[in-house]
Amino acid sequence: MSDEALIVEPDALLTSGVCECCGRLSRTLTGYVHAGDATLAAYWLHWTVGHFPDLNANMDIVIGRWGESSTADDRVAVSLGIALVDGRESYRVIDAASRSIAESGLAGAALQRDAVIGTPLAAQVFAAIDAIHLQDKRLPIIMAPE
Ligand SMILES: [Zn+2]
Repeated sequence: MSDEALIVEPDALLTSGVCECCGRLSRTLTGYVHAGDATLAAYWLHWTVGHFPDLNANMDIVIGRWGESSTADDRVAVSLGIALVDGRESYRVIDAASRSIAESGLAGAALQRDAVIGTPLAAQVFAAIDAIHLQDKRLPIIMAPE
């Protein structure tokens, strides 16, 4: 990846269902991460209203080459669990293969944790997360009690 600054473009706020345990709404924030003129990643942040940080939130990222001439095989899906550690969100790579992003058709592969950790891809993913964290001003919504 170049050193080009990453620009985050917040997109939608979706209601994706209700929590099985309490009936509260499950919601999703979506957005994109751009590097110069190219789109590097799309992301989906999932949480249940009132459940964070008691239950982790999750983020799915589809990262790689986007745009007209690209196909799903140019991209991979990586998933993260988000926990609150010492008052700050902490992101941990989890297995993407078992998540619905694996069935989305947007990525050629949904990666297991072991396929991400310690690779250049991990650095790219965490650079994207840093950018999202700084630039997507909607993120505190996951803490809202209702
Ligand atoms: Zn619940």
